Amino acid sequence: MFWYILIALLVGVLLGRVWAMFIRPEPAGFRREGSRGSTNYILGLNYLISNQTDLAILELGKAAKLDSKTVEVFITLGNLFREKGHVERAIQIHKGVLHRSNLSNVERNQALLCLGIDFKKAGIIDRAIGIFEELIQRDPDNINGYLNLAELYEELMEWEKAYAAHEKVLQMGYTANRMALGFIQNELGLISLGEKDYPGAIKRFQKAISSDPTVYPAYINLGDAYLENGEVPLAINCWEKLVAISPLKSYLVFDRLKKAYEMVEELDRYKSLLVRLARENQKDWRVRIALAEHDRENGRAKKAYRWLLEASRVNPHSLTIHQFFWRLLLEEGLPRDKVEEYVDTTREMVFFLDPYICLKCHYKTTELLWRCPHCHAWNSFVEEKL
Ligand SMILES: [Zn+2]
Repeated sequence: MFWYILIALLVGVLLGRVWAMFIRPEPAGFRREGSRGSTNYILGLNYLISNQTDLAILELGKAAKLDSKTVEVFITLGNLFREKGHVERAIQIHKGVLHRSNLSNVERNQALLCLGIDFKKAGIIDRAIGIFEELIQRDPDNINGYLNLAELYEELMEWEKAYAAHEKVLQMGYTANRMALGFIQNELGLISLGEKDYPGAIKRFQKAISSDPTVYPAYINLGDAYLENGEVPLAINCWEKLVAISPLKSYLVFDRLKKAYEMVEELDRYKSLLVRLARENQKDWRVRIALAEHDRENGRAKKAYRWLLEASRVNPHSLTIHQFFWRLLLEEGLPRDKVEEYVDTTREMVFFLDPYICLKCHYKTTELLWRCPHCHAWNSFVEEKL
């Protein structure tokens, strides 16, 4: 945000210069200073660069009093108030700018963008959407207008509209939102799946994956759609693809694959897949849990117990593993040697629910989320290493 303010300011300064030089030539000998030339303005800029927001507000406030005509000073002041959490003040200032009759197009668009961001920050979503819609109507190439709209529509889960806004941004050559496009297409696919429109859902999930191959839930859901559509081998194929491209996420499809292998009467494939994954990654504790579960179900409690011991060594903090241990020990009638071995192994361990953390904002959760509820990033959660 700081960089945004700074860039907005510099653009403002530049536009001011251009305005002064070409658009409004002054008579010879007259030098237009205004608030932009004032000491307060320069000081304010310096404070802004060194991140001293309060002092920047103070100096820019003085500059604004000296010359109430200079739009960019007011826009920046409003942005600084917003950043300090005084959103109402920011809205007041930006509205004040928009009420001026002599604004240039660029100035009006910039003030609209800032007012929209104020409303967004205040949580007044409908007003923010109204402002950004107005902005893109006035300036159809305004990438920030579309990006803000996309985020708000995502917030409201209006996926069609969010997709359209992202698509517009992509057409303008900004490709960093391909992942968002993929995830939104995945959401649209889930709607089709809910309506039992399997061919429609399949198309959408395929499109999601081709937008961005890291839209992992699309592989899971595409498999579900194939399965519902009676195409079991295609479903298996799809889930195995997820295992291949992201082995650490493969636990998300273990149950599905097991069921599907059973349906085609090839359950052996399940066990050999798990064994292979465990061999390929010594630190994958979830595959060890799956192996333990598989052995337990097939009456091999001792083997299951060995897998759990391995899993607990890889991830000593996982409460999931320890709950499984006790379930298994209870089922086996609490054999004394096994309980003692368990107590010995886990004496120093601290247990937690398996935590996930957002790489962008460090938001924590105990379930894997695809979109961060805090910073709104897609695909930003990883398992937290303790
Ligand atoms: Zn986040």
